[in-house]
Amino acid sequence: MMSTPFDQTQAIEIIQRARLPQWALPKEWPQHLGQPQLANVYIEHGKITRIDPQLGSTNLSLQGQSLDLEGALLLPSLVDAHTHLDKTLTLSRMGPVGPGLLNAIQAMMHDRATWSEEDVKNRASKALTMAWNAGVTHIRSHCDCWEPRQMPLAWRVLEELSQTWRERIRLERVALIPLTLFKNKEDALFLAQSVKASQERVAGAMLGGFIHTSNWDPEALENLLYAAQTHELDLDLHVDEELNPNALGLKFIAERVQTLSFTGRVVCGHTCALSQMSEDDSLKTLDQVAKSGITLVTLPITNLFLQDAQTQRTPRIRGMTLVKEARARGIPVLMASDNVQDPFCAMGSYDPLEAFSVGVPMGQLSPAFDTWSELLCRPEWIHSKISPPQYTPFGIGAQADLICFTKANTTGFPSQTHSRQIIHAGILSPTEGLTP
Ligand SMILES: [Zn+2]
Repeated sequence: MMSTPFDQTQAIEIIQRARLPQWALPKEWPQHLGQPQLANVYIEHGKITRIDPQLGSTNLSLQGQSLDLEGALLLPSLVDAHTHLDKTLTLSRMGPVGPGLLNAIQAMMHDRATWSEEDVKNRASKALTMAWNAGVTHIRSHCDCWEPRQMPLAWRVLEELSQTWRERIRLERVALIPLTLFKNKEDALFLAQSVKASQERVAGAMLGGFIHTSNWDPEALENLLYAAQTHELDLDLHVDEELNPNALGLKFIAERVQTLSFTGRVVCGHTCALSQMSEDDSLKTLDQVAKSGITLVTLPITNLFLQDAQTQRTPRIRGMTLVKEARARGIPVLMASDNVQDPFCAMGSYDPLEAFSVGVPMGQLSPAFDTWSELLCRPEWIHSKISPPQYTPFGIGAQADLICFTKANTTGFPSQTHSRQIIHAGILSPTEGLTP
């Protein structure tokens, strides 16, 4: 599929005839038979300098090394906006785990007693390698923090890995703290200060929390927001990961973010309860979310495993947050892996397209490539608002970190996406990406 001979050690200067998704192209981009025209992507010193439509069969005057995709699909490198590297890859050493969230938590607590720095580092490194091979360059991991006055050993390991992987993957870490630990304002400030200290050592640390009807405490949530605001931290929260239509987490956060003029980025993961509210309540909540600038993250695989889960009973309610209604309001929405091979989720591989393959039929997201693949490719939707990034995916000046799907097509996407050519800073990766 590519012009031969091709020297893989040399930088690519032109990617010819690439099919880019509609969401990434300007409105005036020419169309042909209802499809965007193929694109030629120009790269210099590892950065994108120009993207032009390939019009007619005009031959390019090629001076540098070119890669002809002959119409194959091209996406920017992927972001996996919500994972749990501290817990990951533990399921294989556990006995049977009962269904649902509470059984998973119990199994995890048991396993956690055996963790050492080496164990966490080995498992998390394996996960990062899987992500890198899939074409991920930005991953965010939550890390359970259960002690009021002490960060866990996994937090230190993730901080170290953020540093060692920084040339390949931007690894961000979120202190996932039960809401009860924010009950006391002093404790809340102490936790935020610990996260801030970590952020100052290695960028990419933020405050998180688990907001659920079972631990609902508006005062503690208020302290959490106050502590984050005081220490200028971004937030990434697990919110309303349940099917209770009376869950108040998202609504409360969206309103308080506005009244407090919260300066950091706020990301809310899961928000499954929206799917069980009345149409009116859910849409009113989303209107507030849109005004607040909150980013939502949907986690289809783990939701399917954990929501409406009971032994020997087929689940009826699937709990996907309202992605279409959110996007219609301009709310940034990302889709991510969440738990991978731990008691919360018995599958996963740090390939965001695996989550996408579940999310597309679950949410009936069509057209998957031209519209919805955006949910995997927008790291700036979780970037700090305090120092926003300069470049957007496929933007001029952006690093040429790209994935070519050599066997997939727009109609069947994300099927047949295992075969990938991964390009980092304009250099073709020596491997073929994932092998089926
Ligand atoms: Zn999670």
